[in-house]
Amino acid sequence: MVKVDVKYTKLFINNEWVDAVSKKTFPTINPQDESIITHVAEGDKADIDIAVSAAVKAFHRYSEWRKLDASQRGRLLLKLADLIERDVEYLGQLETLDNGKPVANAIGEAGWSAQIIRYYAGKADKILGNTIPADGEVLSMTIKEPVGVCGQILPWNYPIPMFVWKIAPALAAGCTLVIKPAEQTPLTALALAALVKEAGFPPGVVNVVPGYGPTAGAALTNHPRVDKMAFTGSTEVGRIIMSGAPSVNLKRVTLELGGKSPLVIFNDADVDKAAEIAHRAAFSNAGQCCVAATRTYVQSGIYDAFIAKAAEIAKKRTVGNPYTDVQQGPQIDQEMFSKVMGYIKAGKEQGARCVAGGDRIGKVGFFIQPTVFADVKDDMKIAREEIFGPVQSILKFETFDEVVDRANDSNYGLGAGVITKDITVALAFVKHVRAGSVWVNTYEHVTPQTPFGGFRESGIGREMGEEGILQYLENKTVTISVPKQPT
Ligand code: NAD
Repeated sequence: MVKVDVKYTKLFINNEWVDAVSKKTFPTINPQDESIITHVAEGDKADIDIAVSAAVKAFHRYSEWRKLDASQRGRLLLKLADLIERDVEYLGQLETLDNGKPVANAIGEAGWSAQIIRYYAGKADKILGNTIPADGEVLSMTIKEPVGVCGQILPWNYPIPMFVWKIAPALAAGCTLVIKPAEQTPLTALALAALVKEAGFPPGVVNVVPGYGPTAGAALTNHPRVDKMAFTGSTEVGRIIMSGAPSVNLKRVTLELGGKSPLVIFNDADVDKAAEIAHRAAFSNAGQCCVAATRTYVQSGIYDAFIAKAAEIAKKRTVGNPYTDVQQGPQIDQEMFSKVMGYIKAGKEQGARCVAGGDRIGKVGFFIQPTVFADVKDDMKIAREEIFGPVQSILKFETFDEVVDRANDSNYGLGAGVITKDITVALAFVKHVRAGSVWVNTYEHVTPQTPFGGFRESGIGREMGEEGILQYLENKTVTISVPKQPT
């Protein structure tokens, strides 16, 4: 077992490390061996109130932060990106301890996060309004201004990238933030907070309050001085935030939620390559990925060959100690482990054919075999509900129209993919599938430049790209009297 030094376990408010008002702490668990890594200060309503006050103060019109030039905000973000790169190994090791993902992936995610920050750093002084040929003797223009104090609630599946997806556009826009990381993975959020301070962001601009959802999360959501909530997590909690947050003060809400994304493979695909893409699409991050392609639709002509290949790849997938060279570590916690095992049981009971995996690995730690089900029917639980684990469901189809209807038969609409050599088929699929991201002959290619988010119950709004920063800006229309002919 690798020894990782946990440096920060307190709340980060006003650039200071403080205990919770209640002095309470909560344990964070190592999913590899179920041991307690450490105890972290447990924020609650009282701490959220203090953090929001700090963020309100930092957003005051004469604060150090508000008086900075936009380009200076960009420079601070560039500095933060440099610091993340400096500490990329440490952040990755810490993430693996808390989350259980393979250390190479964790380090890769930290490095990618620095790139995302640089993308938004470059945008800070390129936030442009418009001049408008308005009717009347006027000159009109729009000015884009920061939305204000933002609450940001994070999930545990990609703790470093999710922290950065939230803070980078918000800081480039000039907002101030109170962040509640997931209770399963508070450690890297706190390590990143230390880097925010080191980069030179003024006190109160970024505050991080670990704690539980129904207490700290709800206090943030319902806070009357928070102008906007950004949330990534389950559709269930997204609904709570969507109904709770605006009822207090009509705060803005953006949501990145769950999915049940289809990947459709046509007869003309290269079976080996398609099976590899589908495997990564389903099993990446131990299946704990909102956009995981958990419904693999395969056309009948290559169905049997595809299943054989999919099972072969899944059986070879290496699972184990995430500090070693493996493809998959444990699931995040006991609750998710039990939930995923329940879906595997349901798949078997409802008559799907288990062609790989189907069981846990070992007796300690939340490890699950990469599991492939063939002959899955649309009405089975494993075809309808988000599993969030290493389970691939393969379904057979015959025609284009049939598969588009079936792909769209979901309340979700986060991602979708198509594998074919026929550009017409690919583009027809792109046109007709209802999803926020569609990939052709690839999957889950997400970049800082490309907007990400969902149709329907997969969310509201977009992160990343130009759309990502617009969610943190308000439009101010300015109209100035200008006579057409000066007297
Ligand atoms: P979750 O919804 O249980 O928790 C997410 C966050 O919400 C945590 O910080 C939690 O403490 C907080 N929370 C819980 N109850 C709350 C409440 N009542 N009020 C305010 N905050 C509350 O989800 P999870 O288990 O962390 O993550 C798994 C889910 O997230 C999956 O369904 C997955 O699809 C989704 N997800 C979506 C995306 C995306 O980009 N669309 C990304 C990652 C995860």
